[in-house]
Amino acid sequence: MRSDRGADSPTADQATVRRHNLAVVLTHLRDNGPRSRARVADDTGLNKATVSSLVAELVDRRLVREGEAERGAVGRPGQTIGLDGEHVVALAAEVNVDFIAALAMNLRGEVVAERRVPLDTAGSEPAPVLNELAALVKRVAGPLQRGGARPAGLAVAMPGLVETATGILDDAPNLGWSKVRVRDELGERLGGLGVEIRLENEANVGALAEVAARSGSSVRNLLLLTGAAGVGGGIVTAGRLVRGEHGFAGEVGHMRVDPAGRRCGCGQRGCWETVVGLNALLAAAANRNDPVRDPALDVAERLAELDRRAAAGHGRTLAALDDVATWLALGAGMLVNVLNPEVLVLGGWFAALGHHLAEPLEADLAAHVYAPGAGGCRVECSTLGFSAALRGGALQVLDAVFDDPTVVAPGDHTNEPRPRRSTR
Ligand SMILES: [Zn+2]
Repeated sequence: MRSDRGADSPTADQATVRRHNLAVVLTHLRDNGPRSRARVADDTGLNKATVSSLVAELVDRRLVREGEAERGAVGRPGQTIGLDGEHVVALAAEVNVDFIAALAMNLRGEVVAERRVPLDTAGSEPAPVLNELAALVKRVAGPLQRGGARPAGLAVAMPGLVETATGILDDAPNLGWSKVRVRDELGERLGGLGVEIRLENEANVGALAEVAARSGSSVRNLLLLTGAAGVGGGIVTAGRLVRGEHGFAGEVGHMRVDPAGRRCGCGQRGCWETVVGLNALLAAAANRNDPVRDPALDVAERLAELDRRAAAGHGRTLAALDDVATWLALGAGMLVNVLNPEVLVLGGWFAALGHHLAEPLEADLAAHVYAPGAGGCRVECSTLGFSAALRGGALQVLDAVFDDPTVVAPGDHTNEPRPRRSTR
Protein backbone atom coordinates (compact mmCIF):
# COMPACT_ATOMS: atom_id res chain seq x y z
CA MET A 1 0.00 0.00 0.00
CA ARG A 2 1.16 3.44 -0.91
CA SER A 3 0.64 6.44 1.29
CA ASP A 4 -0.63 9.44 -0.66
CA ARG A 5 -0.63 11.71 2.33
CA GLY A 6 0.39 15.13 1.12
CA ALA A 7 1.42 13.91 -2.30
CA ASP A 8 -0.93 16.26 -4.13
CA SER A 9 -0.51 19.22 -1.84
CA PRO A 10 1.40 22.11 -3.40
CA THR A 11 3.45 22.53 -0.21
CA ALA A 12 4.82 18.99 -0.46
CA ASP A 13 5.72 19.56 -4.10
CA GLN A 14 7.26 22.93 -3.34
CA ALA A 15 9.30 21.47 -0.51
CA THR A 16 10.55 18.72 -2.83
CA VAL A 17 11.50 21.21 -5.55
CA ARG A 18 13.23 23.43 -3.03
CA ARG A 19 15.23 20.52 -1.55
CA HIS A 20 16.24 19.56 -5.07
CA ASN A 21 17.31 23.12 -5.89
CA LEU A 22 19.28 23.42 -2.63
CA ALA A 23 21.10 20.25 -3.65
CA VAL A 24 21.74 21.65 -7.14
CA VAL A 25 23.32 24.85 -5.79
CA LEU A 26 25.36 23.12 -3.08
CA THR A 27 26.65 20.44 -5.46
CA HIS A 28 27.43 23.08 -8.07
CA LEU A 29 29.61 24.96 -5.58
CA ARG A 30 31.37 21.72 -4.61
CA ASP A 31 32.08 20.76 -8.21
CA ASN A 32 32.97 24.20 -9.56
CA GLY A 33 34.33 26.20 -6.64
CA PRO A 34 33.30 29.57 -5.17
CA ARG A 35 31.47 32.00 -7.42
CA SER A 36 28.95 34.80 -7.38
CA ARG A 37 25.21 34.27 -7.04
CA ALA A 38 24.74 35.69 -10.54
CA ARG A 39 27.16 33.13 -11.92
CA VAL A 40 25.43 30.28 -10.06
CA ALA A 41 22.17 31.44 -11.63
CA ASP A 42 23.75 31.51 -15.10
CA ASP A 43 25.41 28.12 -14.63
CA THR A 44 22.39 26.29 -13.22
CA GLY A 45 19.57 27.99 -15.13
CA LEU A 46 17.84 28.96 -11.86
CA ASN A 47 16.68 32.56 -11.68
CA LYS A 48 18.64 35.06 -9.60
CA ALA A 49 15.98 35.64 -6.97
CA THR A 50 15.65 31.88 -6.43
CA VAL A 51 19.41 31.48 -6.14
CA SER A 52 19.59 34.31 -3.57
CA SER A 53 16.89 32.66 -1.49
CA LEU A 54 18.52 29.22 -1.76
CA VAL A 55 21.91 30.63 -0.81
CA ALA A 56 20.38 32.38 2.21
CA GLU A 57 19.02 29.04 3.39
CA LEU A 58 22.34 27.26 2.76
CA VAL A 59 24.10 29.99 4.75
CA ASP A 60 21.57 29.50 7.54
CA ARG A 61 22.33 25.78 7.54
CA ARG A 62 26.06 26.65 7.68
CA LEU A 63 26.76 24.83 4.44
CA VAL A 64 27.97 27.81 2.40
CA ARG A 65 29.35 31.18 3.33
CA GLU A 66 30.14 34.49 1.78
CA GLY A 67 33.48 36.00 1.01
CA GLU A 68 35.33 33.19 -0.72
CA ALA A 69 37.61 34.33 -3.53
CA GLU A 70 36.11 33.47 -6.88
CA ARG A 71 38.25 30.97 -8.75
CA GLY A 72 39.87 32.49 -11.82
CA ALA A 73 38.21 35.85 -11.35
CA VAL A 74 38.63 38.95 -9.27
CA GLY A 75 35.74 39.65 -6.94
CA ARG A 76 35.21 41.67 -3.83
CA PRO A 77 34.83 39.54 -0.68
CA GLY A 78 31.14 39.14 0.01
CA GLN A 79 30.25 38.92 -3.64
CA THR A 80 31.17 35.28 -3.92
CA ILE A 81 29.87 32.28 -2.07
CA GLY A 82 31.57 28.96 -1.46
CA LEU A 83 31.33 25.81 0.63
CA ASP A 84 31.70 26.43 4.34
CA GLY A 85 34.66 24.34 5.43
CA GLU A 86 34.20 24.99 9.14
CA HIS A 87 30.72 24.37 10.40
CA VAL A 88 29.61 20.96 9.15
CA VAL A 89 31.80 17.86 9.37
CA ALA A 90 31.32 14.23 8.45
CA LEU A 91 32.59 11.72 10.98
CA ALA A 92 33.88 8.23 10.30
CA ALA A 93 35.16 5.52 12.60
CA GLU A 94 36.66 2.11 12.06
CA VAL A 95 37.29 -1.03 14.06
CA ASN A 96 39.85 -3.30 12.51
CA VAL A 97 42.14 -6.01 13.77
CA ASP A 98 44.86 -4.34 15.86
CA PHE A 99 43.50 -0.80 15.67
CA ILE A 100 40.59 1.56 15.97
CA ALA A 101 40.45 4.89 14.15
CA ALA A 102 38.31 7.97 13.67
CA LEU A 103 38.32 10.85 11.24
CA ALA A 104 36.49 14.11 10.55
CA MET A 105 36.11 15.56 7.07
CA ASN A 106 34.80 18.99 6.20
CA LEU A 107 32.28 19.76 3.50
CA ARG A 108 35.07 20.32 0.98
CA GLY A 109 36.24 16.74 1.44
CA GLU A 110 39.31 17.78 3.43
CA VAL A 111 40.35 15.68 6.43
CA VAL A 112 40.41 18.03 9.42
CA ALA A 113 41.16 15.53 12.18
CA GLU A 114 42.25 11.90 12.28
CA ARG A 115 43.39 9.49 14.97
CA ARG A 116 44.39 5.84 14.90
CA VAL A 117 45.01 3.91 18.10
CA PRO A 118 46.61 0.47 18.29
CA LEU A 119 44.23 -1.88 20.08
CA ASP A 120 44.10 -5.65 20.31
CA THR A 121 40.49 -5.71 19.17
CA ALA A 122 40.58 -9.39 18.23
CA GLY A 123 41.51 -10.27 21.80
CA SER A 124 38.62 -8.21 23.23
CA GLU A 125 34.90 -8.45 23.66
CA PRO A 126 32.91 -5.94 21.59
CA ALA A 127 31.71 -3.83 24.54
CA PRO A 128 35.07 -2.48 25.74
CA VAL A 129 36.22 -1.91 22.15
CA LEU A 130 33.05 0.07 21.40
CA ASN A 131 33.69 2.07 24.59
CA GLU A 132 37.15 2.94 23.28
CA LEU A 133 35.78 3.72 19.82
CA ALA A 134 33.11 6.05 21.22
CA ALA A 135 35.78 7.83 23.28
CA LEU A 136 37.96 8.19 20.19
CA VAL A 137 35.10 9.63 18.13
CA LYS A 138 34.48 12.15 20.91
CA ARG A 139 38.17 13.07 20.98
CA VAL A 140 38.06 13.74 17.24
CA ALA A 141 34.70 15.53 17.21
CA GLY A 142 35.00 17.40 20.52
CA PRO A 143 37.50 20.11 19.54
CA LEU A 144 35.67 20.67 16.24
CA GLN A 145 32.35 21.01 18.01
CA ARG A 146 33.83 23.44 20.49
CA GLY A 147 35.05 25.42 17.46
CA GLY A 148 31.48 25.63 16.20
CA ALA A 149 31.27 22.60 13.87
CA ARG A 150 28.35 20.21 13.86
CA PRO A 151 28.62 16.55 12.80
CA ALA A 152 26.38 15.62 9.87
CA GLY A 153 26.59 11.90 10.56
CA LEU A 154 28.91 9.07 11.52
CA ALA A 155 29.87 6.17 9.28
CA VAL A 156 31.36 3.15 11.03
CA ALA A 157 33.46 0.75 8.98
CA MET A 158 33.97 -2.83 10.10
CA PRO A 159 35.73 -5.84 8.57
CA GLY A 160 33.13 -8.53 8.01
CA LEU A 161 29.54 -9.15 7.06
CA VAL A 162 27.65 -5.96 7.77
CA GLU A 163 23.89 -5.42 7.62
CA THR A 164 23.73 -1.75 6.76
CA ALA A 165 19.94 -1.59 7.14
CA THR A 166 19.96 -2.86 10.73
CA GLY A 167 23.42 -1.70 11.78
CA ILE A 168 24.31 -5.21 12.88
CA LEU A 169 27.71 -6.74 12.36
CA ASP A 170 26.71 -10.25 11.36
CA ASP A 171 30.11 -11.85 11.50
CA ALA A 172 33.72 -10.66 11.65
CA PRO A 173 35.86 -13.80 11.93
CA ASN A 174 39.14 -11.93 12.38
CA LEU A 175 37.70 -10.04 15.34
CA GLY A 176 35.89 -13.11 16.62
CA TRP A 177 32.70 -11.04 16.77
CA SER A 178 29.28 -12.08 15.56
CA LYS A 179 25.79 -10.60 15.84
CA VAL A 180 26.94 -7.32 17.36
CA ARG A 181 24.42 -4.44 17.31
CA VAL A 182 27.16 -1.94 16.49
CA ARG A 183 24.91 0.94 15.44
CA ASP A 184 22.69 0.76 18.52
CA GLU A 185 25.53 0.04 20.94
CA LEU A 186 27.53 2.96 19.63
CA GLY A 187 24.44 5.15 19.49
CA GLU A 188 23.95 4.63 23.23
CA ARG A 189 27.54 5.60 23.91
CA LEU A 190 27.39 8.65 21.61
CA GLY A 191 23.92 9.86 22.47
CA GLY A 192 25.12 13.38 23.17
CA LEU A 193 26.66 13.69 19.74
CA GLY A 194 23.24 13.64 18.09
CA VAL A 195 24.29 12.02 14.83
CA GLU A 196 22.88 9.32 12.60
CA ILE A 197 25.14 6.28 12.60
CA ARG A 198 25.61 4.13 9.53
CA LEU A 199 27.41 0.80 9.61
CA GLU A 200 29.41 -0.19 6.54
CA ASN A 201 31.80 -2.86 5.38
CA GLU A 202 35.32 -1.41 5.37
CA ALA A 203 36.21 -2.65 1.88
CA ASN A 204 33.02 -1.20 0.39
CA VAL A 205 33.57 2.30 1.71
CA GLY A 206 37.29 1.98 1.01
CA ALA A 207 36.49 1.36 -2.65
CA LEU A 208 34.39 4.54 -2.75
CA ALA A 209 37.34 6.50 -1.37
CA GLU A 210 39.63 5.00 -4.01
CA VAL A 211 37.24 6.02 -6.79
CA ALA A 212 37.03 9.54 -5.32
CA ALA A 213 40.82 9.71 -5.11
CA ARG A 214 40.89 9.05 -8.87
CA SER A 215 38.07 11.45 -9.74
CA GLY A 216 40.30 13.26 -12.25
CA SER A 217 40.62 10.12 -14.36
CA SER A 218 36.97 9.00 -13.95
CA VAL A 219 37.68 5.37 -13.09
CA ARG A 220 34.41 3.43 -13.31
CA ASN A 221 35.57 -0.16 -12.79
CA LEU A 222 37.76 -0.68 -9.78
CA LEU A 223 38.59 -3.52 -7.42
CA LEU A 224 40.09 -2.71 -4.03
CA LEU A 225 41.82 -5.43 -2.04
CA THR A 226 42.11 -4.35 1.57
CA GLY A 227 45.11 -5.85 3.23
CA ALA A 228 44.57 -6.33 6.94
CA ALA A 229 44.47 -9.47 9.06
CA GLY A 230 41.80 -10.49 6.60
CA VAL A 231 41.32 -9.46 3.01
CA GLY A 232 38.19 -7.69 1.82
CA GLY A 233 37.18 -6.75 -1.68
CA GLY A 234 35.50 -3.49 -2.60
CA ILE A 235 34.00 -3.74 -6.07
CA VAL A 236 32.94 -0.75 -8.16
CA THR A 237 31.44 -1.66 -11.53
CA ALA A 238 30.22 0.92 -14.04
CA GLY A 239 30.67 3.55 -11.33
CA ARG A 240 28.48 1.77 -8.77
CA LEU A 241 29.42 -0.11 -5.63
CA VAL A 242 28.52 -3.79 -5.93
CA ARG A 243 26.85 -4.84 -2.68
CA GLY A 244 24.98 -7.97 -3.73
CA GLU A 245 21.61 -9.17 -2.44
CA HIS A 246 22.29 -8.65 1.28
CA GLY A 247 25.33 -6.36 1.15
CA PHE A 248 27.71 -9.29 1.55
CA ALA A 249 29.43 -9.08 -1.85
CA GLY A 250 33.19 -8.78 -1.97
CA GLU A 251 34.16 -11.32 0.70
CA VAL A 252 37.10 -12.29 -1.45
CA GLY A 253 39.27 -13.30 1.50
CA HIS A 254 37.19 -16.46 1.88
CA MET A 255 37.71 -17.82 -1.62
CA ARG A 256 39.18 -21.28 -1.00
CA VAL A 257 42.49 -21.38 -2.82
CA ASP A 258 44.05 -24.30 -0.93
CA PRO A 259 41.55 -26.88 0.42
CA ALA A 260 44.34 -28.60 2.35
CA GLY A 261 45.61 -25.30 3.76
CA ARG A 262 45.44 -23.58 7.12
CA ARG A 263 42.23 -23.15 9.08
CA CYS A 264 40.60 -19.72 8.51
CA GLY A 265 38.80 -17.65 11.12
CA CYS A 266 35.57 -18.37 9.22
CA GLY A 267 35.87 -22.10 9.95
CA GLN A 268 36.85 -23.16 6.44
CA ARG A 269 40.27 -24.36 5.44
CA GLY A 270 42.61 -22.69 2.94
CA CYS A 271 40.82 -19.38 2.41
CA TRP A 272 42.75 -16.78 0.41
CA GLU A 273 43.35 -14.62 3.47
CA THR A 274 45.11 -17.48 5.26
CA VAL A 275 47.91 -17.06 2.70
CA VAL A 276 47.79 -13.33 1.88
CA GLY A 277 46.43 -11.76 5.08
CA LEU A 278 48.75 -9.78 7.34
CA ASN A 279 48.85 -12.57 9.90
CA ALA A 280 50.09 -14.99 7.23
CA LEU A 281 52.88 -12.58 6.28
CA LEU A 282 53.86 -11.93 9.89
CA ALA A 283 53.88 -15.61 10.81
CA ALA A 284 56.10 -16.37 7.83
CA ALA A 285 58.40 -13.37 8.31
CA ALA A 286 58.97 -13.31 12.08
CA ASN A 287 58.90 -15.33 15.28
CA ARG A 288 56.01 -14.92 17.69
CA ASN A 289 57.94 -12.70 20.14
CA ASP A 290 59.20 -10.37 17.40
CA PRO A 291 57.91 -6.79 17.88
CA VAL A 292 56.50 -6.73 14.34
CA ARG A 293 53.92 -9.23 15.61
CA ASP A 294 52.96 -7.15 18.64
CA PRO A 295 49.40 -5.80 18.19
CA ALA A 296 50.09 -3.15 20.83
CA LEU A 297 52.38 -1.39 18.33
CA ASP A 298 51.06 0.72 15.47
CA VAL A 299 50.59 -1.42 12.38
CA ALA A 300 52.16 1.21 10.09
CA GLU A 301 55.34 1.20 12.21
CA ARG A 302 55.48 -2.60 12.19
CA LEU A 303 55.15 -2.62 8.40
CA ALA A 304 57.85 0.05 8.10
CA GLU A 305 60.14 -2.24 10.09
CA LEU A 306 59.40 -5.15 7.74
CA ASP A 307 60.09 -2.82 4.81
CA ARG A 308 63.48 -1.93 6.31
CA ARG A 309 64.29 -5.62 6.71
CA ALA A 310 63.32 -6.34 3.12
CA ALA A 311 65.42 -3.42 1.88
CA ALA A 312 68.35 -4.80 3.88
CA GLY A 313 67.97 -8.12 2.10
CA HIS A 314 66.65 -10.09 5.09
CA GLY A 315 66.05 -13.54 3.61
CA ARG A 316 63.09 -14.62 5.73
CA THR A 317 61.21 -11.35 5.12
CA LEU A 318 61.82 -11.49 1.37
CA ALA A 319 60.74 -15.15 1.18
CA ALA A 320 57.54 -14.32 3.06
CA LEU A 321 56.78 -11.44 0.69
CA ASP A 322 57.51 -13.63 -2.36
CA ASP A 323 55.10 -16.25 -1.08
CA VAL A 324 52.37 -13.66 -0.55
CA ALA A 325 52.96 -12.21 -4.03
CA THR A 326 52.48 -15.64 -5.61
CA TRP A 327 49.21 -16.31 -3.77
CA LEU A 328 48.06 -12.74 -4.34
CA ALA A 329 48.40 -13.20 -8.10
CA LEU A 330 46.46 -16.48 -8.03
CA GLY A 331 43.42 -14.99 -6.25
CA ALA A 332 43.60 -11.64 -8.01
CA GLY A 333 43.67 -13.47 -11.34
CA MET A 334 40.35 -15.18 -10.51
CA LEU A 335 38.79 -11.86 -9.58
CA VAL A 336 40.09 -10.05 -12.65
CA ASN A 337 38.73 -12.86 -14.84
CA VAL A 338 35.29 -12.30 -13.29
CA LEU A 339 35.22 -8.52 -12.94
CA ASN A 340 37.54 -7.10 -15.61
CA PRO A 341 38.44 -4.02 -13.55
CA GLU A 342 40.32 -1.11 -15.04
CA VAL A 343 42.29 -0.71 -11.82
CA LEU A 344 43.14 -3.22 -9.12
CA VAL A 345 44.04 -1.21 -6.02
CA LEU A 346 46.21 -2.71 -3.32
CA GLY A 347 45.16 -1.23 0.01
CA GLY A 348 46.16 -1.53 3.66
CA TRP A 349 49.30 -3.55 4.27
CA PHE A 350 49.49 -4.53 0.60
CA ALA A 351 50.06 -0.84 -0.20
CA ALA A 352 52.46 -0.28 2.69
CA LEU A 353 54.72 -2.96 1.18
CA GLY A 354 53.44 -2.31 -2.32
CA HIS A 355 56.79 -1.93 -4.02
CA HIS A 356 57.44 -5.60 -3.18
CA LEU A 357 54.02 -6.75 -4.40
CA ALA A 358 52.61 -4.57 -7.18
CA GLU A 359 55.19 -5.28 -9.84
CA PRO A 360 55.25 -9.09 -9.51
CA LEU A 361 51.46 -9.04 -9.25
CA GLU A 362 51.04 -7.08 -12.46
CA ALA A 363 53.47 -9.41 -14.25
CA ASP A 364 51.72 -12.56 -12.94
CA LEU A 365 48.22 -11.28 -13.69
CA ALA A 366 48.85 -11.56 -17.41
CA ALA A 367 49.47 -15.28 -16.92
CA HIS A 368 46.40 -15.81 -14.69
CA VAL A 369 43.90 -13.80 -16.73
CA TYR A 370 42.40 -15.20 -19.92
CA ALA A 371 41.83 -11.84 -21.62
CA PRO A 372 44.94 -10.47 -23.31
CA GLY A 373 46.99 -8.01 -21.28
CA ALA A 374 45.06 -8.97 -18.10
CA GLY A 375 41.99 -7.40 -19.70
CA GLY A 376 43.62 -3.98 -19.53
CA CYS A 377 43.79 -4.13 -15.73
CA ARG A 378 46.55 -2.11 -14.11
CA VAL A 379 47.73 -2.54 -10.53
CA GLU A 380 48.02 0.52 -8.30
CA CYS A 381 48.91 0.95 -4.65
CA SER A 382 46.47 2.94 -2.57
CA THR A 383 47.80 6.32 -1.50
CA LEU A 384 45.22 6.49 1.29
CA GLY A 385 47.09 4.14 3.62
CA PHE A 386 44.93 2.89 6.44
CA SER A 387 42.55 5.83 5.97
CA ALA A 388 40.66 4.54 2.92
CA ALA A 389 37.69 3.13 4.84
CA LEU A 390 37.43 6.22 7.05
CA ARG A 391 37.55 8.55 4.06
CA GLY A 392 35.00 6.51 2.14
CA GLY A 393 32.69 6.48 5.14
CA ALA A 394 32.99 10.23 5.58
CA LEU A 395 32.37 10.77 1.86
CA GLN A 396 29.15 8.76 2.19
CA VAL A 397 28.01 11.02 5.01
CA LEU A 398 28.81 14.06 2.85
CA ASP A 399 26.98 12.55 -0.13
CA ALA A 400 23.82 12.43 1.99
CA VAL A 401 24.24 16.17 2.70
CA PHE A 402 24.81 17.06 -0.95
CA ASP A 403 21.82 14.91 -1.95
CA ASP A 404 19.57 16.69 0.56
CA PRO A 405 21.06 19.74 2.33
CA THR A 406 18.04 19.89 4.65
CA VAL A 407 19.45 16.94 6.63
CA VAL A 408 21.61 19.62 8.27
CA ALA A 409 19.44 21.69 10.57
CA PRO A 410 19.65 25.50 10.44
CA GLY A 411 22.44 26.73 12.64
CA ASP A 412 22.35 28.52 15.94
CA HIS A 413 23.92 31.84 15.00
CA THR A 414 23.64 33.36 18.43
CA ASN A 415 26.96 31.92 19.55
CA GLU A 416 29.34 32.71 16.70
CA PRO A 417 32.56 30.69 17.06
CA ARG A 418 35.99 32.13 16.49
CA PRO A 419 37.45 31.38 13.08
CA ARG A 420 39.32 28.09 13.45
CA ARG A 421 42.16 26.55 11.47
CA SER A 422 42.40 22.93 10.38
CA THR A 423 43.59 20.63 13.16
CA ARG A 424 45.31 18.28 10.75
ZN1 LIG B 1 37.66 -18.01 5.48
